[in-house]
Amino acid sequence: MHNLQDNKIIETESKSTCLVCAQPGRLLYDKLTDKLFRSTGEWTLKKCVNKECGLVWLDPAPRESELWKLYANYYTHVDKSCQATSSIKRCYHFVRDCYLSLRFGYFKGLRQYQLRWIGTLLNFFPARRANLDFSVMYLNNKPGGKLLEIGCGNGTMLKYLDSLGWQVEGIDFDPIAVEKARLKGINIKLGSLKDQHYDENTFDAVILSHVIEHVPDPIALLSEIHRILKPGGMISLVTPNINSFGRMLFKNFWLHLDPPRHLFLFDNNSLLKSAQKAGFNHMAINTTIRDTEGLIFASLMLKRNGAFQMGTQPRGMVKLFAKTMCLVEWTLVKIFRSKGEEISLIGIK
Ligand SMILES: [Zn+2]
Repeated sequence: MHNLQDNKIIETESKSTCLVCAQPGRLLYDKLTDKLFRSTGEWTLKKCVNKECGLVWLDPAPRESELWKLYANYYTHVDKSCQATSSIKRCYHFVRDCYLSLRFGYFKGLRQYQLRWIGTLLNFFPARRANLDFSVMYLNNKPGGKLLEIGCGNGTMLKYLDSLGWQVEGIDFDPIAVEKARLKGINIKLGSLKDQHYDENTFDAVILSHVIEHVPDPIALLSEIHRILKPGGMISLVTPNINSFGRMLFKNFWLHLDPPRHLFLFDNNSLLKSAQKAGFNHMAINTTIRDTEGLIFASLMLKRNGAFQMGTQPRGMVKLFAKTMCLVEWTLVKIFRSKGEEISLIGIK
């Protein structure tokens, strides 16, 4: 049992074997604490002994019925609004749209599409490019395509994809986030994917950003996604990479360990195996440097101060260090491909 700051008791259960390949786990890190939301208690991460798997999981883990207690102050509640007002921002947004036209085929028939070569300017800014690829979840333009986001939080990404021509809807289990998304005019449902009882072959695309590491049975979730996708439909998900440069650098201080909310942490192998078990055969997997700078900064603060306040920005030498490490990681990803902070998986049904 673990105690939370407001005296909520988290009941746990043992998870002795790997969900993907049923092998036992060896100790990776123990005595981990919740440095972000300050629940009390210590947590242990195990890593699958199967070298071809590499799944990492919490053992013991919070029981499924207890998970809601871990998200009382979670940041899906926080709504950031960002409106382009300055001419510099408008100019950047034009270059951004040219890039999205060039890379993913958006804005067909518009000026951005005719001038899409301008998007090549972003080749000089790999971290920004990684952000833009993520902003459309690596999906090519499909006007009117039916898209579902699982764990859509306050609906920011769905609102953007809606503006690009997708027919969007979302699911989240957080009632405050759902309320905020509804205010944006997004069709969003409260609860889990199973609760929605979607017909099979319903969606052209299903997206998940930093969700799969939070769920008690990722393979069951992926199987349900496979069922509701149309033939030829795509799943696009991103999740932290336990095999990343940042984790090697910061070890048990790496921000994305995030106990006890991250029940699982994947590398390329374990994520591919999980998706295969769920029925996906045609897949592409990559690791990216999206938000590496922020992650390096946050992990450094955790190591130095034992705490990190979400939304804090780096300054001075720390900023320079984070930018340099981001550049190092970009180089590593060019050579090894598997060292980026975030894994992007695309699977086709
Ligand atoms: Zn395994």
